[in-house]
Parts: sequence; structure tokens; C-alpha cells
Amino acid sequence: MKKPLIVQKFGGTSVGSIERIENVAEQIIKAKNDGNQVVVVVSAMSGETNRLMDLAKQVDDVPCARELDVLLSSGEQVSMALLAMMLSKLGHPARSLTGGQAHIITDGQHNDATIKHIDTKVIKDLLAQEQIVIVAGFQGINDNGDITTLGRGGSDTSAVVLAGALAADECQIFTDVDGVYTSDPRVVPSAQKMEVIDFPSMTEMARKGAKVLHLPCVEFAWSNNLPLRVLSSFTPSQGTLVTGDIGDKPVVGIAIQREMSLIHIDNTYLSSVQKQCQMLGIAIWNVIEHPERAGIVIKRDANAKLSLVFGDKIRNSEEVSLLTTVGLQAKGLKDHAHELLCQQDVSVSHISTTDRTLVFVVLPNCVDKAANILHDAYITESEAFDCQQKHAFLD
Ligand code: ADP
Ligand code: ASP
Ligand code: MG
Repeated sequence: MKKPLIVQKFGGTSVGSIERIENVAEQIIKAKNDGNQVVVVVSAMSGETNRLMDLAKQVDDVPCARELDVLLSSGEQVSMALLAMMLSKLGHPARSLTGGQAHIITDGQHNDATIKHIDTKVIKDLLAQEQIVIVAGFQGINDNGDITTLGRGGSDTSAVVLAGALAADECQIFTDVDGVYTSDPRVVPSAQKMEVIDFPSMTEMARKGAKVLHLPCVEFAWSNNLPLRVLSSFTPSQGTLVTGDIGDKPVVGIAIQREMSLIHIDNTYLSSVQKQCQMLGIAIWNVIEHPERAGIVIKRDANAKLSLVFGDKIRNSEEVSLLTTVGLQAKGLKDHAHELLCQQDVSVSHISTTDRTLVFVVLPNCVDKAANILHDAYITESEAFDCQQKHAFLD
């Protein structure tokens, strides 16, 4: 009988030291001994991609995109090789593969590439030889054979696309928290772990900064109907299952996106700057149309590229964070939430809404406080309220 195939992805903290790599190896061996074929995707050891990025920035504020990919992709090669060595030492043959060796073919968008296709023959042949296959996350090659990377956090996407290409039975994302929470549990102590979250809600959470899952990973899993599980590398639990098309919760969670810049632009240049950002591959997170205070919100690390191109059209820039409430009723909370934040001295630079989101642009030093205020008001207290209602009903 054919063995089930699972893809397991381990993030940076999970492979952050030799002891942790040993712990990961033991989990992989357990999955294998339980009768599964296992393909593993690894990230770089924690802090390594940032260290490499800093080195590049010391050479050039806007490093050559191709060379940056050559540099950054090296982080994942270190962890894949160490993990394969560890598995072999523990008596389980393993083979590590770079994105190129695993035939992960992407488009040509250096630093933010999209996987187009994976030729799974090499991986399948290794599995047929009873090998555990370790693939470097976050990287692939383009049609010219150049190394590409998938954007920060991209190993989640490598795992899920591999799971799709291999028709895996399950894709498990192991990380340093035990599932998806209603907000970042490191910032909001009262955040609650969700047993299940639907794809539309998870997509919005990821899009707005809940970095527990990379956005293209969630989008791919959703469009391919591939259930995803987020689990802890350190404590055994069921984690959170991401599945289902229907997201009907009034408020699902609060997401935070840090290290953003609000760039003030002369209103007359706004639309031309937007068009050129699109051409340059600079993502605009928010557009503020205002006769005197027009602007765009972009990631802080895109600032240098933007200044290089538009130097004279940019008035000034300000460090900001984005705080997003996600849920079907989020946009209806706009005035109430704004008032709550103002009452507690959180100054809001801009507010915008979409069908499922309410976004506040705030100063970085008050975003954590603001997240707790909104979480308490719309998640913790509303659950307490629901609970009271239920009890009143049952009594
Ligand atoms: P990995 O290195 O395993 O890919 P990441 O650092 O990319 O891990 O993602 C895990 C982190 O995401 C957690 O440590 C947590 O601080 C953060 N996070 C942000 N929002 C959420 C959320 N809603 N639920 C769980 N974790 C979250
Ligand atoms: N190492 C890459 C990063 O730090 C990719 C990942 O961790 O998913 O962004
Ligand atoms: Mg990650």
C-alpha cells in the first residue's frame, strides 16, 4: 500500500541551533516511523537572513537584486545541510536539495519571485529510495538558471507549493508558536489560539502582517483546496487548521505590520508615483488622497529605491505601523474604534476600510498598545459577552 506523503516546514527559530536541529530531526524521524514519506522544507537559522541583508546594505543601499538573491539563498543551504547530516547521523538517510536542484522554477522577479512550476521527479526518485528529502525554502531558479527568492517569509510558500506538486496528504508548518492566534501572542497577551481558521480570514490576516503564514502560501493553499496546519516545533499540539471558504466571523483578529513608511507626496504627483511604483515592483499598502496631506504607505526597506527614483517628488517620510482589524464587521467599527483609540491617546494618521478590514495608520511606538485596546474591545470582551449570553440562556 502507498505510504502517506507529508510535507513538513520548519522555520528559522525551529532550526536556530544544533540542539534545535536535533529536535527537528527527531520529529521528522517520528513522522517517518509512523509510516509516512516525508519531504521537509527548511528556513535559514533565525537571524541569518537579516544578517545577510545587513551585509548587502553595507555595500549598497539598493543592492543588485540578482546578487541579493544569491546571497540570501545561502542561509537556507546551511540549515538544509545541517539537518540532512543530523538525520544521517541518527541513522536515517537524507538528502538536501537547493531550490534549483529540486527543480523549483519561478518567474524572473528577483527578491519577490513566484513559483511557476515544480518538476518533482528528483524528489520522487529520492523518496522511492527511502530517503528523507530536505528542500531549501524561500528559493527557486528562473528560466535562465539564476537563483531567485520568494520574498521574506517565503519558505511557507515553498512548502505548500511542494505539497501541491507532490499531491501530498498534508502540509504542516512548524513554527515557534503553537498555532494561529487572534493576534500576535507576543504583543497581545490575551490573544487566543484558534483551532480552525477559514481561508478568507487567514488571507486577510497574512496580507496585513500576521507573519505566522506567508501570504502567497495561504493564497496557494486556498486556491488548491489544500488544508494547512500550523504547529509548534517545541510543544506537541493539534495547532491550527486553515481550511474552508466561508469566513463569517464578525471579528476574527488583529494584525500588525511594522517597519512601514508613510511617504508624503505632492498631490499632483500621486497617480504618477503609484504607476511607477507598480512598474518598479514596490507594493503600496495604503494611498492617502488629500489635497494637502497626500501620501502612500510602503515597506520601510523599499524607501531607498523609491528615493532613488522620485527624490524630488517626495516631501518627507514618516515611520508608521499598520494596525488592521479583520472580520466581516470590521469596517463597521470604524468610528467606534477610532474613538476608543483617541480616548487612550493613540494618535491615528489615517484610516481606511475594505470589505473585511479596518486599517489604522499609527505611530510605531503606540501600535502594541492600540492592538491590545482593539483586541480587548472586539475579541476578548465580545467573547466574554457571548459566554455570558450563552450561560444566561442555559440557566
Ligand atoms: P518562522 O520562522 O517559523 O517562519 P515567523 O517568525 O515567520 O516564524 O512566524 C511566527 C511568528 O508570527 C510568531 O512568533 C508570532 O510572533 C508571529 N505572529 C504574528 N501574528 C500572529 C498570529 N496571529 N498568530 C500567531 N503568531 C503570529
Ligand atoms: N529565511 C527567509 C526569511 O527570513 C525565509 C523564511 O524564513 O521563510 O525571510
Ligand atoms: Mg515565517
